[in-house]
Amino acid sequence: MSSWSLWPWPFFEERHRDLAARVGAWSCPVDGEVHEAELGEACRAIARSLGAGGFLDCVVPREGEKVDVRAVCVAREAISYTSVLADNVIAMQGIGTGALWLHGTPEQKDAYLDPVRRGERIAAFALTEPGAGSDVASITTTARRDGGDYVLDGGKTFISNAPFADHYIVVARTGEAPGARGLTAFIVDAGTPGMVAGDPIHLMAPHPLAPLTFENCRVPAANVIGEPGKGFGIAMATFDIFRTSVGAACVGMARRAMHETLARMRERRLFNATMAEIPGVQTKLADMSIDLDLAALAVYRAAWVKDTTGGRCSREVSIAKFAGTEAAGRIIDAAVQLWGGLGVTRGSVVEQLYREVRPARLYEGASEVQKLVIARNLIAGA
Ligand SMILES: Cc1cc2nc3c(=O)[nH]c(=O)nc-3n(C[C@H](O)[C@H](O)[C@H](O)COP(=O)(O)OP(=O)(O)OC[C@H]3O[C@@H](n4cnc5c(N)ncnc54)[C@H](O)[C@@H]3O)c2cc1C
Repeated sequence: MSSWSLWPWPFFEERHRDLAARVGAWSCPVDGEVHEAELGEACRAIARSLGAGGFLDCVVPREGEKVDVRAVCVAREAISYTSVLADNVIAMQGIGTGALWLHGTPEQKDAYLDPVRRGERIAAFALTEPGAGSDVASITTTARRDGGDYVLDGGKTFISNAPFADHYIVVARTGEAPGARGLTAFIVDAGTPGMVAGDPIHLMAPHPLAPLTFENCRVPAANVIGEPGKGFGIAMATFDIFRTSVGAACVGMARRAMHETLARMRERRLFNATMAEIPGVQTKLADMSIDLDLAALAVYRAAWVKDTTGGRCSREVSIAKFAGTEAAGRIIDAAVQLWGGLGVTRGSVVEQLYREVRPARLYEGASEVQKLVIARNLIAGA
C-alpha cells in the first residue's frame, strides 16, 4: 500500500488498514495510458474488476450503512497511486449514485445501486452547463411538469462517463423558487429519448468526457430524487462527501510521484554523486515530503470529522480538497523538474501524472471556490 506511513495516525480503524491492504494488492486490468477511443471499454473493465473486489462498496453504501469517508479516501488514494483512470471510475460510481443512497426512495435504491456496486452499470452526474460551472445556481436546463412526467430541455457539459454511462443524475430547474432553491435532481436512464451525448471533449490527459443535450426528454415523476426544489442541497451533500476524496486521490498521485522520484534520485549520478546526495536536491525532496504530509493530514482530518460528527463540515472538506489538489500540483511539478528531460518525455510516469493531476483543481469546485467556502464558514462562525 502506497500510504503505509499514515497508519500510525489516529484517524484510522482496523477496517481502514484492512481495506488499504486489499486495495493495495488490487491489480488494475488496464495498463498504461488508454487511447481515447477505448475509454468506455477500459472504464467498464475497471468497474467490473473493482466491483468484483468489493471496492465499490465504500462509494455505494448499502441500506442502513453510513458512508465511511475515510474508507473512500483510503481507497481513492491507493487506486490513484496505481491508475488515475481507475480512480475516476470509483469516484464516478459514488458521485453518480450519492443522491440516490442519500435521498432515493426504496424503489430507486433497489433498481440502481446493486448493479453499480457490482461494477456492472456505470453511473454519471450531470450538473455543469456551458453557462453554469462554478455558479451552479445559474443552471438553465429546465424540467417542466407534464402530467405524470417531467420534460427536460437544455444542455450539460463536461460530464464524466458520457456517453457510455447507464444512468445520469441530472440537476435541472423546476422553478419552485429563484436560483439555487428552484433546482431538482432526476435519474435519467441512458437511451431515454431526447437525451443525446455529444462528441467527446479532449482533455490534456485521457478522461471520458462529453456534453449532453436534452430536447423534449420525458422522465417519469418517480425519477425525481428527494423533493422538487432540493436539487442544489442534494448536489452539495454529495460534494460534502466526495470533495475530501478528490484531495485523497491527489495525495495518491503525489505519493506516486514522490516514490518514483526518490528511486530516481538514489540512482541518477550528477557531478560524481547521486542526485540524492546533492543538498539542493535534498531540500527539494524535503519540501515535497512536507507538502505531502500536510495535504494528507488535511484530507484525513476532514474525513475523520465527517465520519465522527456526521454533519456538514464544509470548511474542513474545502481545506482538504484545496490542500490535496494544490499540493499535488506542486509536488508533481517538482518531480518533473528533478527528472530533467525524462520528466517531460511522453510516457514517463511523472509526465503522465503532471497532465493527470491538473484538472483536479477545477472540478468539484475550483480552488477559488473552495476558498470562498472556507471564508464564508469562518465569517459565519461555523
Ligand atoms: C476532468 C473534469 C471532469 C468533470 N466532470 C464533471 C461531471 O462529471 N459532472 C459535472 O457536472 N461537471 C463536471 N466537470 C465540470 C466541472 O465541475 C467544472 O469545470 C467546474 O465546476 C468549473 O466550471 P467551469 O469550467 O464552467 O469554470 P468557470 O465557472 O467558468 O470558472 C472559471 C474559473 O474562474 C475561477 N473562479 C470561479 N469562481 C470564482 C470566484 N467566486 N472567485 C474567484 N475566481 C473564481 C476559477 O479559477 C475557475 O476555474 C468536470 C470538469 C473536468 C475538468
